[in-house]
Amino acid sequence: MIPQPVAQAIVLPVDSSATKGEFVRVVSGIGWHIDRAELGPAQNFVYFIVPETLDRLAVVDPGWQADAIVAHAARLRRPITDIILTHHHLDHRGAVPELLAHRPARVHVHKSERAELKNEGFALDLVLHEGGDVIELGAGAAFKLLHTPGHTPGSMCIHCQGCLITGDTLFVDGCGRCDLPGGDAKAMYHSLHRVLGELPDTTLVLPGHDYGPAATSTLAEQRLSNPYLRSQQESDFIAYRLRPRG
Ligand SMILES: [Zn+2]
Repeated sequence: MIPQPVAQAIVLPVDSSATKGEFVRVVSGIGWHIDRAELGPAQNFVYFIVPETLDRLAVVDPGWQADAIVAHAARLRRPITDIILTHHHLDHRGAVPELLAHRPARVHVHKSERAELKNEGFALDLVLHEGGDVIELGAGAAFKLLHTPGHTPGSMCIHCQGCLITGDTLFVDGCGRCDLPGGDAKAMYHSLHRVLGELPDTTLVLPGHDYGPAATSTLAEQRLSNPYLRSQQESDFIAYRLRPRG
């Protein structure tokens, strides 16, 4: 069988002088690109998925500073039509009510996050997803949702053409906490080693926080340097993830 060529996004060189609050273009896919900014006091990254062929714009994890998000959408001359939440924590969705007051949009979340969002008074119509669902954002821009529980029961990663937006599942040289309500270190092991384990080394990691030595990495680099991906045994992983925090 002749292997089919896999479309691979191009990672753009980012000006290292890009400062907090500034949007930079980090990836150029075939028919779409991704812009990123670090917003708010908790080193959160917000991502814009910008399809070229449709008048749509998806914002991933708008936690803070709705004004900066609206301003960048205006620069792109795009309406924010979709909001994708990797999980329910406030630092990933705090700006959603203000964005929706500005303009209605579809809010996508994994179905297992609905109860938490409701408990937290987040009374919105949500588009509820399961792992494997695809959000189509135009030609070549099919973003697949991977269910990666562990940090929360409905945590998701978003995958397209070799790019992976990882929320709080995988950081550069780290992974999300599993000791908060709904956290599950065993599920995190499975998510990192089985679900993300299926993805090739060349996959670009776009994490939910700027916690590592760099803003992005590849799975190849992470499989060498990230202690949570190096930890091959489930029991070792769980013990390390749940070690007392100093
Ligand atoms: Zn979180």
